[in-house]
Amino acid sequence: MCGIVGYIGTQAASAILVEGLQKLEYRGYDSAGIATILNDGIHCVRAKGKLKNLQDKLEGIENPAQVGIGHTRWATHGKPEEYNAHPHMDTDRRIAVVQNGIIENYRDLREHLKAKGHEFRSDTDTEVIPHLIAEYLKEIRNQQSTDAAATPFLEAVRRAVNDLRGAFALAIINADYPDELIAVKQQAPLAIGFGKGEFFCASDTPALVSHTRTVLTLENSEIARLMPVGVEVYSFGGDRLRKTPQTLNWNPILVEKQGFKHFMLKEIYEQPGVVRACLEAYLDSEWTAQFNASPMHLNLAAEFYQDIEQIQIVACGTSWHAGLVGKYLLEQLAEIPTQVQYASEFRYAPAPLTPHTLTIGVTQSGETADTLSALDMEKRRRAEVGGKFQAKLLGITNRPDSTLGHLVDDLIDTHAGIEIGVAATKTFTAQLVAFYCLALDLAYRRQTVSLDRLEEIIIELRQLPAQIESILEVQERYVEQLAHEFTETQDFIFLGRGINFPIALEGALKLKEISYIHAEGYPAGEMKHGPIALLDEKVPVVAIANAGSSL
Ligand code: GLU
Repeated sequence: MCGIVGYIGTQAASAILVEGLQKLEYRGYDSAGIATILNDGIHCVRAKGKLKNLQDKLEGIENPAQVGIGHTRWATHGKPEEYNAHPHMDTDRRIAVVQNGIIENYRDLREHLKAKGHEFRSDTDTEVIPHLIAEYLKEIRNQQSTDAAATPFLEAVRRAVNDLRGAFALAIINADYPDELIAVKQQAPLAIGFGKGEFFCASDTPALVSHTRTVLTLENSEIARLMPVGVEVYSFGGDRLRKTPQTLNWNPILVEKQGFKHFMLKEIYEQPGVVRACLEAYLDSEWTAQFNASPMHLNLAAEFYQDIEQIQIVACGTSWHAGLVGKYLLEQLAEIPTQVQYASEFRYAPAPLTPHTLTIGVTQSGETADTLSALDMEKRRRAEVGGKFQAKLLGITNRPDSTLGHLVDDLIDTHAGIEIGVAATKTFTAQLVAFYCLALDLAYRRQTVSLDRLEEIIIELRQLPAQIESILEVQERYVEQLAHEFTETQDFIFLGRGINFPIALEGALKLKEISYIHAEGYPAGEMKHGPIALLDEKVPVVAIANAGSSL
């Protein structure tokens, strides 16, 4: 899933679109393109490879167009070639579309449209969309008497998106309607930015924050019509919706590298600040064992705390590892039996329903499709039974404004600030702090930990940021030297026990993801039951072996 940007206003769109695409470069892509409405037609420029190739092609082109869309593609259907790069157009090249996601029923639609004489120029699933919109526009123009004739472009898009199956976010322009840019969201993220007399859309907020912090995150099955005079939002059914944008508290500076070689390194160094921000948000700074209240203020509804007999956590990747740490804390501190499920598996093989169960979905972006689907499924199947099986959903995310935020009843915001690096670092640390806060809050309320022990843990939690700072200092001098010794290493083993086992798994995942070195994480005691056979002098073992085993 890659990047979408769109602009309509009074400035030249082309430079704004390219700058927006630069802000989304971190997501990885294989080609890029932009389309604007120029001299009554669509002006479309696309290039394979890096954004630089697109910029080179745009160099010297005088383009005052004030409306346009842009895309960075990560191919799912059709090779990463220029002819498959977005934007895609209809046969007459009047309509241009960029899409993130997958259109599952594109084959049938393509055959149907080809039979009606539409000329296809790419192998993508996306291309059916401009053709389908053109087809509906023709239909609407032929039946001019209907209400639809008042907003033909919007109505054609609305009819078209109702024919699409799959997950998609779209930005669409039409040379015959130069004062409209239409954005659509269905299971893929899309946000609208509100400027002064200008409006933006983007698949992720870093592309918006240098222009505006007033942002509306679209929900599934919503269509936004952006015009120089304002924005209207509609449902797929055609009803006008009343929506209120939010103000993001991000500083545009957060999406710059600020002297670090890359975003991941910058974000690793942000960990002390992130832990501080999360603790500041939730931990009562004055709390001592003498207080007659929970040390945590998680702002969860009173009903949240009622009748929690079991917990199930659904997540993917790094968030799943955070969930495993969460299980350890929730069981050991709050004494609540906890299961951790891969969201991608849970969707297809859900656990039998258990009563009074809290379901926690953990996703950094709040947009992880498998996690959202698992939560949605859980909500539906529990609603069917009701009573003591009623769903109680809590989200842990760094993006409260995301789709997750709208899906769950309660939310813990990890306060990690935007994470640009694709491999999670600071957000993992923040998720762990969020789990500590939740587990300690529940432990206090359930009286499963003595107040003196609670106070000790809280004193230690407060020291965390400074401890991370001192580790990062060592990292500069020592870890880098160490890394040179392992440049030729093929395999690594990571070991940990108890709460450190998921940390071993996360260490192995990071090494695989970032260094392309094969790595496995094991519970320390399991090593002797087989995996030890893999060891020889060429396989380094990283043991996460902190002093002490109790909490
Ligand atoms: N499925 C579309 C394609 O292959 C969009 C992929 C993307 O999200 O970049 O062109």
